[in-house]
This record gives sequence, structure tokens and C-alpha cells, in this order.
Amino acid sequence: MSGLSGRIIGLRSAGALRAAAGAAILFAPWIRARPPSTPSPSMSATAETHAFQAEVNEVLSIVVHSLYSHREVFLRELISNASDALDQLNLRALTEPGLLGDDGELRIELVVDKKAGTLTVRDNGVGMTREELIENLGTIARSGTKRLMQSLSAEQKKDVALIGQFGVGFYSAFLVADTVTVDSKKAGSDEAWVWESQAKNDFVVRPGSRAGRGTDVLLHLKDDAKEYLDEWPLSAVVRKYSDYVRWPIRLLVERDDGKAQKPEWRTLNAARALWTRPKSEITREQYVEFYKHTSHDWAEPLAWTHFKVEGTHELTGLLFLPSRAPLDLVERKQGGVRLFVKRVFVLDDAQEILPEWLRFVRGVVDSEDLPLNVSREVLQRDATTRFIQKQVVAKTLALLEELAKEGETDIERDGKKEKRERYLEFWREFGRVLKEGLYHEPDLRAQMAGLLRYESSRAQGLTGLAAYKQRMPAEQKAIYTVSAESLAAAEQSPHIEALKKRGYEVLYQLDPIDEWIGDALREFEGTRIVSAAKSALDLPESDEEKRAKERHQKDLAPVLARMHKVLDERVQEVRVTERLTDSPACLVSAAQGMSPHMERRLRDAGHPVPAQKRILEVNPEHPVLRKLRALADGDDERFQRWTALLHDQALLAEGVLPPDPAGFARKLAQLMGEE
Ligand code: ADP
Repeated sequence: MSGLSGRIIGLRSAGALRAAAGAAILFAPWIRARPPSTPSPSMSATAETHAFQAEVNEVLSIVVHSLYSHREVFLRELISNASDALDQLNLRALTEPGLLGDDGELRIELVVDKKAGTLTVRDNGVGMTREELIENLGTIARSGTKRLMQSLSAEQKKDVALIGQFGVGFYSAFLVADTVTVDSKKAGSDEAWVWESQAKNDFVVRPGSRAGRGTDVLLHLKDDAKEYLDEWPLSAVVRKYSDYVRWPIRLLVERDDGKAQKPEWRTLNAARALWTRPKSEITREQYVEFYKHTSHDWAEPLAWTHFKVEGTHELTGLLFLPSRAPLDLVERKQGGVRLFVKRVFVLDDAQEILPEWLRFVRGVVDSEDLPLNVSREVLQRDATTRFIQKQVVAKTLALLEELAKEGETDIERDGKKEKRERYLEFWREFGRVLKEGLYHEPDLRAQMAGLLRYESSRAQGLTGLAAYKQRMPAEQKAIYTVSAESLAAAEQSPHIEALKKRGYEVLYQLDPIDEWIGDALREFEGTRIVSAAKSALDLPESDEEKRAKERHQKDLAPVLARMHKVLDERVQEVRVTERLTDSPACLVSAAQGMSPHMERRLRDAGHPVPAQKRILEVNPEHPVLRKLRALADGDDERFQRWTALLHDQALLAEGVLPPDPAGFARKLAQLMGEE
């Protein structure tokens, strides 16, 4: 009775442990972003001088010294900020129409003053308070950027591609300007404030005189950047980077009609949300620029999907896969999809429509059905949200499947044509996060299994389950896996000796979550997934092999029983195996158990895991076993010592330190000293 209930409890806790294992691996204590510290100001009569946060100085120095050849992007960055400010105002005005006042035509304006040598990027958007100016333009709040700055060497800081990964945003203004003056008035406030800096360690904040709501970014152009005072270079840059910005971008131009000079506004962009246009009208460049605009990534996206769903619910989506993962991908929990309702921006980082395990996806979703004044609370309750999320998941998975099918192709990146396997690039960057989906979405597991990639014993490089199955010899019954800390450890694993000898490929589970996924999947398209370090391997055996195994088991029975007695504390059974060809012994887990690898990870993550007794399997053909057989009749001390050594070396072969390393070393030395 007690044995039975013990077993049931044992099983239950094994299940609970496995669930805990998945959770522990996924939800290791993430490093949280600390709130930015605001340096204390030094006061003067009207203006306050504030020191930049250290990382801002670094970013500024990179901007000025390294990004010179990319400097035209300053306009994209400033227009993108202005466009965001208009989006936010537009949203707030839904509930507070008074905010618009008599200035309801939302727009971005570029104003050139040739005499003064200045260019102003102006918006009548949401504006910033004094505190927001200090906080937003004096510190870097994003933890990833901060850590990136701290981790890069001086040499790496010159790498534009690396730096471009996080985007330098507002600070790119210093690519073309030696002084930047931001004059801003928050919507609904009476106070205007000015922020000004020469990018030399500090900035000044003083009261401003701006009449209406919004922000002016006034650039005192450097001598070698005066081309941005001319209409044509300006309009070319706007068309190149910001044509799809949905707010009009106007430039005040002087028209020389022969008599008087009449300034007039000219709209530079198409000002229509890109995703509302038919695919056939959108060029590759426009998609790429739209991506850069919405994601603040300087690199081109790896792929995208542009779709429309019609029927009971209507929505349009334009979703991108970045080509590189941000540095804080694993701990960053927010996503990058913006939610629009009938072309009105309503939410940044709409987690409700993008599951966490797709947090690398960037882009927009525009719904026709949600209410315009939608809040996070409403979204969480609304059935439409679930519909949208389903669509986002389905379209993203379809895009990934398409990439996975495509194999090697020509792709153009940063203007260069190269042969690449896009799916593997994606997998290397984001596979770790995609795997979280298999944990969270049991219903999608079977579908997503096809997207998994592993290193394997076949050859260097990643492979998937479908390709593995195709290569399986006819008589092979299962898909084999082995968990290990590293590729080298997996390749040397004793557990897979017999499999390799038979020509069976073994998939290497090198990521802690892989083992969990293998156990959760159990099978792939009708073929079982079997861990080489667990219970039976289910190898096809010839009659002769079967007879030999039975004979060995019988012949060795007394030796095995004696070994078990010696190792009683540590193993639940000692038995003969067909798993080994070269090694004398290995340790395997029961079918329900977890590998020592997983056990260790769990302990490291702070979970109390009861020590699991495993099974010691021995290779009856190995000389060590013959020796043990000879010893079994006599010298008890030597038999015990040899058995303990055999057990400990099996642990070592897995990359695990024996429980008493000093004892192991002593026994080994003693053995070496023996005749
Ligand atoms: P990012 O746009 O990536 O957040 P930036 O350095 O470009 O980083 O801008 C920092 C912040 O300053 C923005 O997030 C925004 O809050 C604020 N900001 C910048 N420009 C404007 C603007 N024109 N109107 C209102 N707020 C702005």
C-alpha cells in the first residue's frame, strides 16, 4: 500500500517537477530595467544645467564619431518622433477633444532659415513637459541600450551595424547640428520649455515662449551639413525614408516667380498609411523603410507578411521579422507590434494581441472592429482581441513555415546580394524565444514542432525533425535525442554509441528547454521521440543479439546484484545494456525521470529537486566487466572500489563531477599503482 501511494506521489511530483522545469528554464530571474536616474541640476537665474547620464555621453560620442556616413537618417529619426507625438495626441484627443483647440490639422513641418543656417522639424503633437524633456532627452531608459553601451569595446563602438541595432533616435540630430534646441509645450499645459545642448556632457533647460502645443527641434546645422537647407536634398531624404508616414510632412519653400518671393507649403510625402495600400503598389524599399521607421532598427528586416482578414472581423496586418535580435531579447517581455483602430494609433507594444513568445515580431495591426477608445483593460476582455491574436500567431507561423520551406535563397541585405538560408538565420537569433511558444501553447505544439532546429550527429549545422525523418533508415523506429551542455559533450556522449554505430542520427538538445520540449512532444508525425539517456532505446535486435543479451544478463546476474549492493544508495538498478559499444558503463534515467542535466539546471534555478536514482547500465563486452566478474568471487574491497570507480567515471563521461571527487581521484591513483 505504502509502495503504491509512494509511486503515485512519485509520479505526480515528477509531473509537477517537469512543469516546474519548464517554468524555471523559461522564467529565470530576468534582469529588470532600473528607472533612469536624473542627474541633479545646477541652477542659474533662468536656466538650469543638467549633466547627461553617462550612457548618453557615450551614445553622443558614437553619433558624432562613428555614424557620420549615415547622417541623413537624422531626418528619419526626428520625423519618426514627431509622427509618434502626433499619434499620441490623436489618441488622447478621442477622449479629450478640447486638446486639439483650433489647431486640429495634425502635421509635421520642416522650416529652413538659410540666413541663420537652421532647420526646424516641427510637430503639433503631444509635446513634452519640463520633466519629460529632462527624462526623455537626458537619459536612456532602455535597459538593453544601456547594457549594450556598457558591454561594447571601444573597437565595437565603431561598428555601425551594432550601434544601429538599437537606434540612436533623437541623438542623431547631432550628426548634422552642433547645437540642438528643443522647444516644447505639452498638450493641455500653458508652459513651454526649452532644452538645449551642444552634446558636450550637459544640456540646459529654461522656460520657453512657444505659443501652441507641440515640439520644435531646431538644428543649428554644422558647416558641412548646409545641404539640408535646400529643398531638393530635404525632399529626397523625406521621400526615401518617410514617404509612408501617415501625417503630412510639409516644407516651407520660397517660390521665385520672377517678381516677389512667396513662401508656400509643399507636402513632401504620400501621407497614407503604408499597410492600407495594396501589396502590388508597395516596393520592397518602402517595406524596408517602413520597418526601420516603426522598429527603430537600422538593419533590414529578414522577412515580412502583409495580410488582410475579411469576414466577421476585419483587420490588416504588416508584420516583420527582424534580422537580428536585440541584446535584451530574452528578458525583454514587451513586444513590438503597434495596434491601430481604423488607422488611428491606439497602443504601442500591444501585448494583448501579440503573445510573449512572439515578442521579436515588429509591425502594425489595424482593426476595423475594436472601439477607438480601447484601453488595455478592454482589450484583455474583448473577444476581438483573441481573434486578432489568433490571426497574428497564424500569420507569423505561416511566414516562418514559408521561410523554413524556402531553404537557401538569394537575399539582399544592406544593398548586397548574398546566398542565405533565412530560416536558419531566424532560428539562430530567435529560436530560443520561439521555443517558449511550445511551452505556452499546447495546441500549437504539433504544428510548431516542424519549426524546431537542432544540431545533430549527422554533420555540422542545424536540422529539423522532418528532414531527420526523411533520412531515417527503414528499420529505425524512433527519433533519438540526447541532452548535453555543449556540442562537444553531446558528440562524446556514451549514451549514443550504439545509435551511431547503427547509423542512426541523434539530435542534440543543447538548450535547457529542448529536453522539456522533447518530453512534451513525445512524437513527431507518428514517430516517437526517444531520449538516448532514458530507459529503453527500442533498437531492433536480431535473434542472435537477443540471445546474447539474455545470456549476458544471466551470466552476469550475480555480479550485477553485487554491484547494486555496493551502489545501493546511488542507483536503482544495475543491468546489461545494448546502448554501449566502446564505454564500459553509463547512467540512464527511468522513462519518467529527468536527465541529470535538467536536474542540475533546476537546482541552479533554486528548485529543490530530490536526488533521482538512475540505472547503471554496463557493457558486458567491455574488458572492465570481465575484470569485475573475476573480482566478484574474491576480494571484496577491490570489487567495491572498482564498482564505485565505474559509476563515477560514468558520471564524468556525462560531464558531471562525482559526488566525492577527492575520493574518486584517490581510488584512481590507487588503481594506477596496482600491478
Ligand atoms: P525613442 O524614440 O526610440 O524612444 P528618442 O531618443 O528618439 O528615443 O526619443 C526619446 C523620447 O523623447 C521619445 O520616446 C519621446 O518620449 C520623446 N520625444 C522625442 N521627440 C519628441 C517629439 N517631437 N514630441 C514628443 N516627444 C518626443
